[in-house]
Amino acid sequence: MVSTTIDLLKKDLPVEEGSLVLSQDVKTGLVIVDVVNGFCTVGAGNLAPTQPDKQISDMVEESVRLARLFCEKKLPVFAFLDSHHPDIPEPPYPPHCIAGTDESRLVTALQWLENEPNATLKCKDCIDGFLGSIEKDGSNLFVDWIKNNQIKAILVVGICTDICVLDFVCSTLSARNRRMLTPLEDVNVYSSACATFDLPVHVAKNIDGALAHPQDLMHHIGLYMAKGRGARIVSEVSFADLKETCV
Ligand SMILES: [Zn+2]
Repeated sequence: MVSTTIDLLKKDLPVEEGSLVLSQDVKTGLVIVDVVNGFCTVGAGNLAPTQPDKQISDMVEESVRLARLFCEKKLPVFAFLDSHHPDIPEPPYPPHCIAGTDESRLVTALQWLENEPNATLKCKDCIDGFLGSIEKDGSNLFVDWIKNNQIKAILVVGICTDICVLDFVCSTLSARNRRMLTPLEDVNVYSSACATFDLPVHVAKNIDGALAHPQDLMHHIGLYMAKGRGARIVSEVSFADLKETCV
């Protein structure tokens, strides 16, 4: 039944996806959202997958590949890390990604970014990375990253398509439209380097108070809503002067 719902939805509410060719002309930055153990590594915590999950492992693989390509080309990379104080909950979610634990650390395949001069890492204690980038003095680390690097386009990857990725994209688009992010123009979301978690309808029915979250459906809705706010959804990324294509 769920697959029928998804098929109908994809037919009636299609997300047209383009391809992105990265060139020297448009300086592009990579934004990696929450590719941390607490969301991506099997058994790593309350919000981690309980068993191997193809959508999530594909997302990690593509994110790592892109991060390497961006760093090789000295293009800027910004990574959000969900990270919470143990005494400050984040309803409606159970405790997760407590600061200083392995849960709030990048997945093993991305930990080299911690020592990469090209990368800016930002611990955030809320869903929306744009808001999470506001520092105590009122400045915004993400805004500064865009301006200092003169970034004209961003490519967003990570987890969850319909939660942290979507909220960050929506806030970024609003900030761009208010001319707070000049020279940023394009916000691209790379669909196969995004993923969300799976809580199927039949499982949620048996958990008191649980909100069902079927993975394929919510991933699609996340992309659809991001597109509706003005993001470009891309299913293919390549470099103009590099023969490698990330599909
Ligand atoms: Zn969180």
